[in-house]
Amino acid sequence: MAQNDDNQLKKIASHAKEYGFIFPSSEIYDGLGAAYDYGQNGSELKNNIKQYWWKAMVQMHENIVGIDASIFMHPTTWKASGHVDAFNDPLIDNKDSKKRYRADVLVEDYIAKIEAKIDKEVAKGVKRFGDDFDQEQFLATNPNVLRNKAKIDEINNRLGKGLETGDLDDVKALIEELGIADPVSGSKNWTDVRQFNLMFSTEMGSTADGASTIYLRPETAQGIFVNFLNVQKTGRMKIPFGIAQIGKAFRNEIIARQFIFRMREFEQMEMQFFVKPGEEMEWYESWKAKRMAWHNALGLGEENYRFHDHINLAHYANAAADIQFNFPMGFKELEGIHSRTDFDLKAHEEHSGKKLQFFDPVENKNYVPYVVETSIGLDRMFLAILSTSYTEEILEDGSERTVLKIPAALAPYKVAILPLLKKEDSGLPQKAREILRLLQLDFNCQYDEKDAIGKRYRRQDAIGTPYCVTVDHQTLEDNTVTIRDRDDLSQIRVPIGEIRSKLIETTSMQELLKKI
Ligand code: ATP
Repeated sequence: MAQNDDNQLKKIASHAKEYGFIFPSSEIYDGLGAAYDYGQNGSELKNNIKQYWWKAMVQMHENIVGIDASIFMHPTTWKASGHVDAFNDPLIDNKDSKKRYRADVLVEDYIAKIEAKIDKEVAKGVKRFGDDFDQEQFLATNPNVLRNKAKIDEINNRLGKGLETGDLDDVKALIEELGIADPVSGSKNWTDVRQFNLMFSTEMGSTADGASTIYLRPETAQGIFVNFLNVQKTGRMKIPFGIAQIGKAFRNEIIARQFIFRMREFEQMEMQFFVKPGEEMEWYESWKAKRMAWHNALGLGEENYRFHDHINLAHYANAAADIQFNFPMGFKELEGIHSRTDFDLKAHEEHSGKKLQFFDPVENKNYVPYVVETSIGLDRMFLAILSTSYTEEILEDGSERTVLKIPAALAPYKVAILPLLKKEDSGLPQKAREILRLLQLDFNCQYDEKDAIGKRYRRQDAIGTPYCVTVDHQTLEDNTVTIRDRDDLSQIRVPIGEIRSKLIETTSMQELLKKI
C-alpha cells in the first residue's frame, strides 16, 4: 500500500470514529485485533445497506426467500464442506521484521505490479494515438504486453499448482525466485510456508459430559445448504430458486490490517441459487450482470468496479469471479460470484446419509441441483461506500468542510430539522419539533438546536445527512422552510406540506430500487 493510500484509509477510519460510525472493539482495553463495533451512525448505515440488499435480492424476486440460520452448526458440516481439511491460508513470516504475511497475497501483489505495467503501456498508447488507438489489438500484439502477460500466467499457474498439491516448498521457492521483499522492511529473509486453518473453534457442553469441538461458521452458505430441503418443501419452491441470508461469519485471518476490509468477525450477505445441472453457466452470467447492476444503481461510479475472473478455482467451483472495488488501497475483492456445482449438497448427502434432491416434475426425476452463489461482505460494502463518499472540500468563501456524500437512500439520517434559534420564546423550537414529528413517521430524522447554524450544517455534512430543514421567523408567518442540499449547498424555500414528497423523491429506498 502506498503511503498516500495508507493516509487516506487512516483519515477515513478516524472520521468514522469521531462521528460515531465505527469504533475499535473494546477500545478502553486498547482494542482487539481486527474486531470493530458499529456506532450509532454506522449501525444505521449498515442496516440500510442490508435493507437495500434484502429488498433487491429477496423481496423483489418471486423465487428467492431468506433465512436466518444459527452460527453454531453440527461439526460434521465443516468436515463435509471441506473447511476442516482445506480452509487454510499459506502463512509466511519475515525473519527480520517478524511480520506475518499470506504467501499467496505476496505473490498476488507482485502480479498486480506487472498488471500495473501493462496498464501504463496502454495509457501511453492512448496518449500517443488518441482515438486511433485500438486497445484490443494493442493488448493482443504488443511484445512487452505479451511478455508480461505470459509472466503473469506462469506465476499464477505455479502458485495455483503449489497450493493445490500442497507443495509449499515450491511456493516459498517462487517467492524467492521472484525476489519478493517484505513490504515493510525490504528484507527477503523468509521462513518456510505453513498452512494455517482459519476457523475459530470452541467447546460446546461441559468437559465432564464429553464436550465436543465446534466451530464458529466461517461462511453463512452452509446454513443454507443444510436447510435446502426444509425451505424447498415448506416454501414449495421450484427450481430455479434461491435462499438468501445475512449473518455473521468468523475467520482467524493471518493478517488483519486495512481497517474493516479484513476482519476476524464480519458479516456476509449471501444467496445460493439452485438450478438444473447444465444450466449453471447461464445463471452464473446472469447473476454477474444482476449484481453489477445492483452496485451501479448506487452511483458510486462505474469506473470503481471491475470483474476479476478466478484462474485458480476453489475445489468446489467450475467458474468464479470477483467484483473488485477501487478501495483506497486499490482494486480488491468486494463480492464473489461462484458456480459451486453440486459439491456442497452432494457432500452433505454423503456425510449425513440424507437425500438432498429435488424432484423435477417436468423431467419426472430426482437430481441434486447445481448452485450459483453471490456472496458479498457487508463490512466491505460499508467501506466501499464510506471511502467513496468521504470528501474534503474548500468552499467558495474559503472555508473547508468534510462531507460524506453517501447515496441518499443509505444515509443514516435523511434530514435534520434545525430551528434557527434555540430560545423557547422565539416559537421556533416548538415549530421545528412539530415538523420533526410529522417527518419521523417516514424518515430517520435528527433534531439539532445547539450552536450557530453553519456549525450545525457542518455536523450534518460530516455524517452524510442529505438535507437540512431550517425553521426561521418566516416559517411562523407563512409555513415555509428552507431546505439545504448537502452536495450542492443550494437552499430552496418550500411549504412545510411539500417536504415529505421531496424527501421521498430524493432519499427513498424505492427510488433507488427502481434504478436496478
Ligand atoms: P479474500 O480473498 O479477500 O480473503 P475470500 O475470497 O476468502 O476473500 P469469500 O470466501 O469469497 O472471500 O467470502 C465472500 C465475501 O466475504 C468476500 O467477497 C468479502 O466481501 C467478504 N469477506 C471475506 N473475508 C472477509 C474478512 N476477513 N473481513 C471482511 N469481509 C470478508
